[in-house]
Amino acid sequence: MDVTRIPGLDRIEQQGDWIVIGANVTFRQIKDSPLLREQARVLSEAAATVGALQIQSVATLVGNVVNAMPAADGSVALMALDAEAELAGLQGKAWRPLGELFVGPGQSAVDPTCQMITAIRFPAPTGRHGSAWERIGRRRALVLPILNCGVSLALHDDERLASVRIGLGPVAPVPFRARETEAFLAGRPATEATFRQATEIVVQEAQPRSSLLRASREYRIEVLQVLVRQGLARAAEQARTRVP
Ligand SMILES: Cc1cc2nc3c(=O)[nH]c(=O)nc-3n(C[C@H](O)[C@H](O)[C@H](O)COP(=O)(O)OP(=O)(O)OC[C@H]3O[C@@H](n4cnc5c(N)ncnc54)[C@H](O)[C@@H]3O)c2cc1C
Repeated sequence: MDVTRIPGLDRIEQQGDWIVIGANVTFRQIKDSPLLREQARVLSEAAATVGALQIQSVATLVGNVVNAMPAADGSVALMALDAEAELAGLQGKAWRPLGELFVGPGQSAVDPTCQMITAIRFPAPTGRHGSAWERIGRRRALVLPILNCGVSLALHDDERLASVRIGLGPVAPVPFRARETEAFLAGRPATEATFRQATEIVVQEAQPRSSLLRASREYRIEVLQVLVRQGLARAAEQARTRVP
C-alpha cells in the first residue's frame, strides 16, 4: 500500500508540549526543518549523516524505526529525545515508547502488514536545553555507522545538569539508551571532568561487538568514549548560550 499521499503525514510541527513528526517525513525534511534545528539539533544533525542526499530525499524516519537496526541513525537520535510512536491498528491508535518497538536486530514489534506508525513525537524541550549528534563511519556516505551517539540535556541556572539522555548504536541488539550514565550525570556540574567520568560508566553498560565489516569491540570501546564526551560537551555548550 502506498501511503505517500495521505494528507497530513508529511508535517513537522509543535503541538502543545510535543514536537510531532508525521510518518511520511523524510530525512531531508528533517535536516531542513528550522523547528528541529532549534529544538532538536540531535535529530537534524543525525538526518544529515544518513546515506547521501538521494537516500535522505526518500528515506523516512519512520521507515528507519521499523527497520529496527541497532545502528540506525534516526532511531538512535530519537532515543536521546525520549520519543514515542503512534501505532495504529485494528484495535485503534496508541502512543508507545519508541524503545518498546525494538525487539532485536532488524526485528520490530510493529507488524507492517496490519499496523502503521502514523507519527513520532517527543517532548518539546524547555529551559536551557541543548542536543548533539556524533557519528563515526568508514566513509562519509552510504554506510551504517561504526558507532553513533545522540545526546540531549538541560542545564540548571547554576550550570548543573538538570537532565541528560544518551542514545547509542550499535552497542546492543537494539538502539540503546545509556540510562546508568544518564543517572550518574543528573545533578552534576556540566564540566569536562564530569563528562570524562561519565565515559567510564558508559563503557560498562554499552556492549559493542566486534564486526568483520566495521570495527573491533576494542576499537569501538575507545571511540565510544570520545563520541560521548564530544556529544555532551557540544550539547552543554548549546544549552549555555540559551537565555535562562
Ligand atoms: C544506500 C543506502 C544507505 C543507507 N544509509 C543509511 C545510514 O547511513 N543510516 C541509516 O540509519 N540508514 C541508512 N540506510 C537505511 C535507510 O535510510 C532506512 O532504512 C530508511 O530510513 C527506511 O525508510 P523508508 O521510508 O525507505 O522505509 P521502507 O524501506 O519503505 O520501509 C522499511 C520498513 O518499514 C515499514 N514501514 C515503513 N513505513 C511504515 C509505517 N508508517 N508504519 C509501519 N511500517 C512502516 C515497511 O513496511 C518496511 O517493513 C541506508 C539505505 C540505503 C539503501
